[in-house]
Amino acid sequence: MNRPGPEPAPSRASVLIPVEQARAYLLDRARRIGESERVALEDALGRVAAADVATPIDVPGHANSAMDGYAVRAADVPDEGEVTLRVTQRIAAGEIGSPLAAGEAARIFTGAPVPGGADAIAIQEDCRLDGASVVVPGPLTPGTFVRPRGNDIRAGSVVLAAGTRMRPQEMGVVASVGIGSVEVCRRPRVAIVSSGNELRRPGEPLGPGQIYNSNRYTLLGLLERLGCQVVDLGTVADTLAATRDALLDGAARADLMITTGGVSVGEEDHVKRALETAGELEMWKVAVKPGKPLVYGRLGGCDLLGLPGNPVSTLVTFCLFVRPFILRRMGVAGAFPAPVLVPARFEWPRPGGRREFARARLAVSGEGEAGAEIYARQGSDVLSGATWATGLVEIFEGTAIVPGDRVPYYSFADLLD
Ligand code: AMP
Ligand code: MG
Repeated sequence: MNRPGPEPAPSRASVLIPVEQARAYLLDRARRIGESERVALEDALGRVAAADVATPIDVPGHANSAMDGYAVRAADVPDEGEVTLRVTQRIAAGEIGSPLAAGEAARIFTGAPVPGGADAIAIQEDCRLDGASVVVPGPLTPGTFVRPRGNDIRAGSVVLAAGTRMRPQEMGVVASVGIGSVEVCRRPRVAIVSSGNELRRPGEPLGPGQIYNSNRYTLLGLLERLGCQVVDLGTVADTLAATRDALLDGAARADLMITTGGVSVGEEDHVKRALETAGELEMWKVAVKPGKPLVYGRLGGCDLLGLPGNPVSTLVTFCLFVRPFILRRMGVAGAFPAPVLVPARFEWPRPGGRREFARARLAVSGEGEAGAEIYARQGSDVLSGATWATGLVEIFEGTAIVPGDRVPYYSFADLLD
């Protein structure tokens, strides 16, 4: 695809921007965090490698046995019938044997270096001991149950590419080449601000008309999963001055600020205006449901993403836009997961004008066939639907769905990890 230069800023008119365009636009603006730090491998889970890691050694460093048995010269073993070989040595893992002469076998265990001269392993279940000798049935091809030197990894190859988020297996591979620490992107500092006069902390009594602040906790969880350092700026009242103060405070302390609420066009919605006066506002409405009002802007060196206040909107817009943005800032290449297509086990009779991300559950039938069900209530206030769900189903603009249609499904494992 030919895409010269950065994605153009969408117009400020009230047209809705398609999801992909909004994400591409954000990713283009996600400046990579340059600073890195060296962490012990034990502490590297979830961190993003800042540079390629190449191995100085082959793994394994020596040809070794894949089984418990006898190391032999394949040429000593007949294609038909069997041969009796003298057992002249015993080699366990961590030991080095001596070269094997014709007519000899070495008792050998899994992981032990194959001695010089030997080129195959006869597994112990196939052999019969006869005093100090072993009877080995043929045929035995050279290389049988021998793991050659470098079978897993070749010296000089890259075992961890820059931009990789460390999973347990990356930790293991780096350890296997003898490297005990890795250079990783420093943790992004992310400030969170909850806007709304109605919000109370869990544990406090609720006054008339008040609700508990759930977004703060959803965001804390989401950001922790991404390895961010959270700067919690608490709740901000619905006034322009308070909102502006909170934004300036966050901008001074964070790489990215996430606000929830206050981004609609009501009189109590001050995030957009505060950003216009204190920084730069770049973007406004996305053709997505939930989550239409979405704000991106900048205050000095700090990015701001203003998410709508409804709890499901906060969760979904984080997955669709904020997480890819943060991952890109850390230098991760594939910042948004690809969906899998699964048959719908639901009906969606009325096509919508915006892309919908429905809270869905992957159900597996008795025959092992997967299909997606959706939660009965899809309102952006119904957060319990997200706890029922295992992921999101994407329903395209102008599309009706009947059971059996294949729909894109994103698991929360891919969207949240
Ligand atoms: P707003 O975007 O500020 O108009 O908020 C939209 C809806 O989300 C309103 O019903 C708010 O009460 C609710 N809401 C806003 N912030 C939060 C929050 N932090 N936790 C739970 N609900 C919220
Ligand atoms: Mg509000």
